[in-house]
Amino acid sequence: MKKLVAFDLDGTLAESKQPLQEAMQQALTDLLGVAHVAVISGGDWPQFEKQVASRLPEAADRSKLWLMPTTGTKLYTFNDGAWSAVFAELFDDATKAKILTEFDAALVATGFVPEQTWGERIEDRGSQITFSALGQQAPLDAKEHWDPDFAKRKIIQADLRKRLPGLSINMGGATSIDITREGVDKAYGIKKLRDASGIPLDEMMFIGDAIFPGGNDYPAKELGLDTVRVRDPKETVAVIEGIVACLK
Ligand SMILES: [Mg+2]
Repeated sequence: MKKLVAFDLDGTLAESKQPLQEAMQQALTDLLGVAHVAVISGGDWPQFEKQVASRLPEAADRSKLWLMPTTGTKLYTFNDGAWSAVFAELFDDATKAKILTEFDAALVATGFVPEQTWGERIEDRGSQITFSALGQQAPLDAKEHWDPDFAKRKIIQADLRKRLPGLSINMGGATSIDITREGVDKAYGIKKLRDASGIPLDEMMFIGDAIFPGGNDYPAKELGLDTVRVRDPKETVAVIEGIVACLK
């Protein structure tokens, strides 16, 4: 019997950086009626608030919701009518500076220069540095067409892994690469969640769109969790409905 269902965010619960759609809001509300729900994603808290926390209907039981920005290096829970951080682990300044330098070097070395970008391409999220190939404000349409098969990012990822030994480098949403401390990936986040919630791993399951080697959801599978790989949020809604029917 599963007690907690954990989800990736972008490409799984919502389109990249978009708010939860109405069908998803309802599905999650129903799921919170029968299980704990966690969301673990590379995005930082403001993104979680915009896409998830502020979109939930009044009826949703927020006391069973565990929000884990920046790949689980931060945990937010809902207490006394407000969201607050339970913990947040941050990079030190020297590590941060090295990541930014090596990112530039990797892009030059791989010859990767997109024709157009929208906004900043590197985002410092405290415990995670995220590279968005087309920029933070790139339109969804451009992002979806840029690297649908992850081919471009695999090249950048391979180069970066050589330059930044000891750091964890994984492909995230539609165009992003996330860099975290060594050992920080969704498996790390899930173990932190197990410790904070007291719910054992075999009573959890994980649903994501990047459950394949190199994908940022894959560590959840390697950790031994039961996983469901989905194509898009529409498929996720159908999977949630099935789980709710089972757990009811
Ligand atoms: Mg995803």
